[in-house]
Amino acid sequence: MAITDKIYVKNHRQLASQLETSFPKSAFAGATLDLLFTGDSLANLDSTTQDRVLDFAEDFLDCDCESHPYCGCAERKFIQYLLELRAQGFGPDAIVDVMGDDYMLYAYSGDILSFLDQSVRTLEAAEALAEIEASRDRRDELHDAKRELTNG
Ligand SMILES: [Zn+2]
Repeated sequence: MAITDKIYVKNHRQLASQLETSFPKSAFAGATLDLLFTGDSLANLDSTTQDRVLDFAEDFLDCDCESHPYCGCAERKFIQYLLELRAQGFGPDAIVDVMGDDYMLYAYSGDILSFLDQSVRTLEAAEALAEIEASRDRRDELHDAKRELTNG
């Protein structure tokens, strides 16, 4: 299960009642993206929530793919966002706080922790592969990326 399947909409019940409908708790579920981020339901939300939803749409749903919002860009960008926060030195708990402030989303810090661990392992595997292929530049690049993720 991808980490983006474990990112949830904060105040889910409250939003559902403002919108007078039900939608999945998972932020990246197709129905949630449709309803919250590409539908015209925004007007029914209070202004704080509207701002967060618009920020989310601007930052993650701004691609022109034909299959938008199901093209996977939003998920990729969100993963990038998580890795950047980690590179800035945020730990799992702080990352959960930041996504709450930025986009009114939440996750369990244990899930964020395993995601970060997994990302480091993936980088390690890629690093080993690059070594075998003796592609030094790429290896250094991955090494730097890993160091950014593990420091902090
Ligand atoms: Zn796209």
